[in-house]
Amino acid sequence: MSAQLLEGEPIAERIKEQVRAAVRQMAVPPKLAAVLATDNPGAKFYAASQEKACAEVGIAYELYDPQVAGPLDSADQLKAYVRRLNADPAVSGIILLMPVPQGVNPREVQMEIAPHKDVEGIHPANIGRLFYGDFSLAPCTPHAVVMMLREAKVDLKGKETVVVGHSEIVGKPTMIMLLRSVMESPTVACCHIATRDLAFHTRRAEVLVVAAGKTGLVRGDMIRPGAVVIDVGINRIQVEVDGKKKTRIVGDVEFEAASKVAAAITPVPGGVGLVTTAMLLSNTVECARRQR
Ligand code: NAD
Repeated sequence: MSAQLLEGEPIAERIKEQVRAAVRQMAVPPKLAAVLATDNPGAKFYAASQEKACAEVGIAYELYDPQVAGPLDSADQLKAYVRRLNADPAVSGIILLMPVPQGVNPREVQMEIAPHKDVEGIHPANIGRLFYGDFSLAPCTPHAVVMMLREAKVDLKGKETVVVGHSEIVGKPTMIMLLRSVMESPTVACCHIATRDLAFHTRRAEVLVVAAGKTGLVRGDMIRPGAVVIDVGINRIQVEVDGKKKTRIVGDVEFEAASKVAAAITPVPGGVGLVTTAMLLSNTVECARRQR
């Protein structure tokens, strides 16, 4: 491997230290309320890791668990529960864990979250501010991507930058956030499922951000020599180790091959995900401030 490894841990630890200090200054610690509407094991695992991260910095965590408190099967039930959390002064921030039950449009429920309790920064009132360069309650993963590029001291000015993925939660806001500065912005292109020749675009990217959720989507030969690669993807794959099946987490980029070509690359796990979680904590503190 020749690429520099852009690890998430040092950045995440620094953000967490700032969060810890901010929480210490508050008379009442902030509380993050997570809404789990299914018994999906991935969502449960995610909730457990959120709870642990909150505990590390002194943020209270409250989980709505349908197995304990009864099902929230319809959009109406979920929205009513969110409205209760909106009205509860003890709750600083609200997060809806994915997936939601079949037939429920998650966006409809998320839009019910009060903008000042929107820890994911995805309500139109918060996401709209990104257009004006206000990142104070920005979506966690795009914010993590921008922070990692800043930390790596990547000079973005005029750089050919390609974002693979155009979801509302990752790809689109990442593009907008990269364009923040009038003078120092990169030239940003966005690829997605309808892109005809993905390799054509990735091969000219000096900065490549991949957020598609497809294992091995970006091969080593699709990367421009010397590129900075930020792999946002989180994919669970089955591998065989000593004759036993094990689950491994990998990104969207072929890490081994890519790290021979790129100048710098984020690992998965250990990269963007760690900073994303830290940003969730930071946004919870910001929500608590807004409430007061
Ligand atoms: P999504 O499914 O909402 O969007 C996927 C995007 O990828 C879409 O815009 C789609 O057009 C594009 N895409 C899919 N196949 C493609 C292809 N063959 N070529 C080009 N584009 C293609 O997913 P999302 O919520 O944006 O998440 C993307 C990935 O990032 C997932 O693996 C998810 O688990 C991961 N993720 C990671 C973090 C983190 O903290 N690291 C946070 C959020 C999401």
